[in-house]
Amino acid sequence: MKFGGTSVGDVERLLDVARRIVAAREAGNRVVGVLSAMGHQTDELLDLAQKISLRPKPRALDMLVSVGERITCALAEMAIEDLGHHAISLTGSQAGIVTDTVHGKAKIVEIRARRIHEALDEDRIVLVAGFQGVSTEYEVTTLGRGGSDMTAVALAAALGAEACEIYTDVDGVFTADPRVVPQARKLHAVTYEEMLEMAASGAKVLQLRSVEFARNHGVKVHVRSTFSGEEGTWIAEEDERMLEKAMISGVTHTREESLYTVGGVDAGRLFGALADASVNVDTIIRTGPDIVFSAPDEDHASIASTLDALEGVTWSARDDLGKVSVIGAGMKSHPGIAARTFATLADLGIESPVVTTSPIKIACYVARNEVERAVSALHHVFELDTPVAERSHA
Ligand code: ASP
Ligand code: MG
Repeated sequence: MKFGGTSVGDVERLLDVARRIVAAREAGNRVVGVLSAMGHQTDELLDLAQKISLRPKPRALDMLVSVGERITCALAEMAIEDLGHHAISLTGSQAGIVTDTVHGKAKIVEIRARRIHEALDEDRIVLVAGFQGVSTEYEVTTLGRGGSDMTAVALAAALGAEACEIYTDVDGVFTADPRVVPQARKLHAVTYEEMLEMAASGAKVLQLRSVEFARNHGVKVHVRSTFSGEEGTWIAEEDERMLEKAMISGVTHTREESLYTVGGVDAGRLFGALADASVNVDTIIRTGPDIVFSAPDEDHASIASTLDALEGVTWSARDDLGKVSVIGAGMKSHPGIAARTFATLADLGIESPVVTTSPIKIACYVARNEVERAVSALHHVFELDTPVAERSHA
């Protein structure tokens, strides 16, 4: 059971979460809780670091931000003991989460779950601080923003859990961002592939890496609300019934990506350097001597310094575009989705200078201020505002 920042945002909510965990235990489950930092604490800690140093030392930054989830876990341990159950809070390191040595974006290389198993055997509720681990060099590391999802999914896999429940401040995964499209529907089920594409193209509900990990290890993920007992969205293997009626699962968008155009360098050297800087390049396009790629805005500083350091390179960046993506596993076997997407944008008079696709996604870059119009129209054209879109039969 993983609880996000809003779910443990203040004392009352944290106490509610403790009760919910205890209720799951009393229903006969062995429970491992993964907790995020309270509210916006991670952002606050990052701001604090910025006030001390313009380029905070990565090791020190991890020492700092890993504290947030430890606070939540320690408080939850107290609360659960008061409710008459035995609990033990563990840091990522104590929980046996071993990572590589990349500060701020570490990858889990191994989970030594012995201590968790022992605690569960002693009838304890185990609380693990999300978002962190210990590197192979014995340093505290963090797993990237939203990394508590990764902690939860990885532990579910290592422990052979029945399911990984992600408790959050929304009711599940929606056919579009409900703030942009009020008619958006909660999906009953999405495939791993769809969720991967959705997370990669703007859906914030789950960390991208955690979805990839869940797919690779067959972890069943249930995204649901902390504030109700309602079923949320199941993320699982593709199932015929899921796609029979609703072949499109959603329309996502992001305004937090920039397009870079780079000249004077061969692709090997360019992407080698970006990989060394741990930049997650998304789309890559090459039709002539220039190379165009997109990457998240949060990587802008490392991209700029990487490109500046490459000899003979000229480059420019565009941050006036947003990306609107139509996603659905059903498009593998149903032609015409691209045609409808382009026709819809044309009707709105919206131009899309860059389009990229995967077997289950069509992504169009459009002007940032046209993103909402494009999302709403596509959502309607693909009938995502109707009950069938929910796939509740699956
Ligand atoms: N607290 C961390 C963050 O804000 C990790 C998480 O909540 O998943 O990114
Ligand atoms: Mg999150």
